[in-house]
Amino acid sequence: MPLIYDCLIIGGGAAGMCAAISLKMNNPSYKIAIIEQLSRVGKKLIVTGNGRCNITNADLSYNSFHSENEGFLKHILDNYSGETESFFEGLGVVFTTDDRGRVYPNSLQASSVVDALRFKIEELNIQVFTETKMLSYKKKNAKFEVETDKEIFIGKALLIAAGLFSGGRKLGSDGAAFGLMKSSGYKTVKTTPAIVQLKTESDIVRQLKGIKVDADVILKEGGKTLRQEFGEVLFCDYGLSGPPIMQVSRFVERSKGAKTIYLDLMPHLDFNSLFELLLRRCKTLKDRKAEEFFTGFLNKRLGQVIIKIAGVKLGDSVTAITSSQVKKIASLIKALPFNVIGTTGFENSQVTAGGISLDEFNSSLMSVREEGLFAAGEILDVDGDCGGFNLQWAWSSAFCVAKGIAAYLGGVK
Ligand SMILES: Cc1cc2nc3c(=O)[nH]c(=O)nc-3n(C[C@H](O)[C@H](O)[C@H](O)COP(=O)(O)OP(=O)(O)OC[C@H]3O[C@@H](n4cnc5c(N)ncnc54)[C@H](O)[C@@H]3O)c2cc1C
Repeated sequence: MPLIYDCLIIGGGAAGMCAAISLKMNNPSYKIAIIEQLSRVGKKLIVTGNGRCNITNADLSYNSFHSENEGFLKHILDNYSGETESFFEGLGVVFTTDDRGRVYPNSLQASSVVDALRFKIEELNIQVFTETKMLSYKKKNAKFEVETDKEIFIGKALLIAAGLFSGGRKLGSDGAAFGLMKSSGYKTVKTTPAIVQLKTESDIVRQLKGIKVDADVILKEGGKTLRQEFGEVLFCDYGLSGPPIMQVSRFVERSKGAKTIYLDLMPHLDFNSLFELLLRRCKTLKDRKAEEFFTGFLNKRLGQVIIKIAGVKLGDSVTAITSSQVKKIASLIKALPFNVIGTTGFENSQVTAGGISLDEFNSSLMSVREEGLFAAGEILDVDGDCGGFNLQWAWSSAFCVAKGIAAYLGGVK
């Protein structure tokens, strides 16, 4: 016998759990089931923010979110972000904000956010079916029949909150639900990894492996700056990592053109001031070897690599460095180039850019193709920058669908 519910929710991640709770709290009589393919709900949520869960951000400016349908995105952010803090307070989760506006649970434990959601799900008697994977769905007699690898479920409303590809299969991100919707005709926006490390061509990064430096990171395609971010960059054997790299990474696979990362290692000095400073340094340190030219100024290995690229031999005297070589050194410090060859892929990414187009939904995130089908979270064409914006999208879209599902079910006989 199929199991019959008012609402079936595919995916026990951030968006699915939040939508289930919000829907049930406001409509206690509804019978709701969460269908989750992994052994537990919230497996991805538990690893967010390095185990601390950057749950939202104090500044929810539109420019920290990305979608091809910006108008729709703004509508959801404007109308469904305000309740985030009170929702979590109701679950016992108190927020704390760091000096960069990133908001965390006061416990600084992502596991406590998952626990709070789980406890509420139990209290509200929302049924959870773990290790149960949706294989397909179809609409039959104005209801949704969901075939899983265990049972058949029937729901008057269906919410797809199944995420996309980021974090890989161990976190439930196989993109199968996205594939199902795509093959049934839903318009999609190209999916690419975002908030991810970058692979670069240069063998310089291998020489610098393990070094961390503060730099302005500028991602360019041709002469056009795609994104610029300041922060700590980490050199790795495959390329570059660190917060500003993750932040600019979204734009690497969105377009086809060749991309270059330029690191400005002295963003507080303009080129001319830096050039003058280096010329003075040549005089002050005239008795040193070139390999010691940067001692006390730049990281030793980094300084030596720059000296070599500028065509100066490490064993030469500082006095042998020509004015044009000083100019070259200054240019390298202001814009050390790395040709980008790609990202480290979906598995290592925190979020997937692109997804099911928002054009496919009405203002409650109900499908315009299949009445009664809703979607929330990462599966939709919305992604945010690093800093709590992706979870905020999961919460905001969940609040939106919870209201939409209630309105829809209210009208269903
Ligand atoms: C390492 C890492 C760190 C991150 N840190 C942060 C952070 O600090 N702050 C922030 O804002 N964002 C962060 N993110 C991004 C954030 O976690 C996601 O944007 C968010 O979890 C998306 O929520 P979701 O519910 O849409 O999808 P998910 O959390 O991916 O949940 C989808 C669920 O659906 C299940 N599912 C999928 N298909 C099926 C199916 N066919 N049948 C049944 N179940 C299915 C999956 O198993 C999964 O549990 C991080 C991501 C990663 C990978």
